[in-house]
Amino acid sequence: MRVLLVEDEEALAAVVRRGLERDGFVVDVAANGVDGLWAGTEHLYDVIVLDIMLPQLNGYAVLKALRERQVWTPVLMLTAKDGEYDEADAFDLGADDYLTKPFSFVVLVARLRALMRRGAPERPVTLAVGDLTLDPVSRRVARAGTAIELTPKEYALLTYLMHRPDEVVTKSDILDNVWDQAYDGDVNIVEVYVGYLRKKIDVPFARQSIETVRGVGYRLLAP
Ligand code: CA
Repeated sequence: MRVLLVEDEEALAAVVRRGLERDGFVVDVAANGVDGLWAGTEHLYDVIVLDIMLPQLNGYAVLKALRERQVWTPVLMLTAKDGEYDEADAFDLGADDYLTKPFSFVVLVARLRALMRRGAPERPVTLAVGDLTLDPVSRRVARAGTAIELTPKEYALLTYLMHRPDEVVTKSDILDNVWDQAYDGDVNIVEVYVGYLRKKIDVPFARQSIETVRGVGYRLLAP
């Protein structure tokens, strides 16, 4: 479970990060709105925790820009009781939940898990590239209706590729997004996992949907 935390208060960000990591989340922190918007657009997260008062671009502007870019990652906003905005504004702008500072860490974790479970059925969540489908809510993957079992890492890799059909993605892009920041092993791990994925989504169906772009990376071909 990958979380983007957009929070400029360093001490609070550090505490929340440590706590979430202890609970098994993978956490990236952005310390201002511009970096938060960039990360939220470029990387895949299960949930985004977004503070409102942020340098450069406030949380509302970040949320609005994310939705305009068709990024439907659930967002939990952190509001301050004495702030200029309140929770009604948060919902108006498309936040999925909010917490008022100061908050209990246990409550934060419970809300994050609920957001991830809930997903958002009215949103166009099922990814499809040709006859390959991936439903992020149920985590079901299928080729022409035949279910495919994937390990969590294979699933994360396929999700990343399916968000970018027909785009060339480099091994280091994949490594940055599918492996956590702490991974400092060989980039060729990506090649290994692409091989695993091919054996499951292509070989049994006589397909070659993951193209190797020599010296660059991979492309998931859209028919
Ligand atoms: Ca702040």
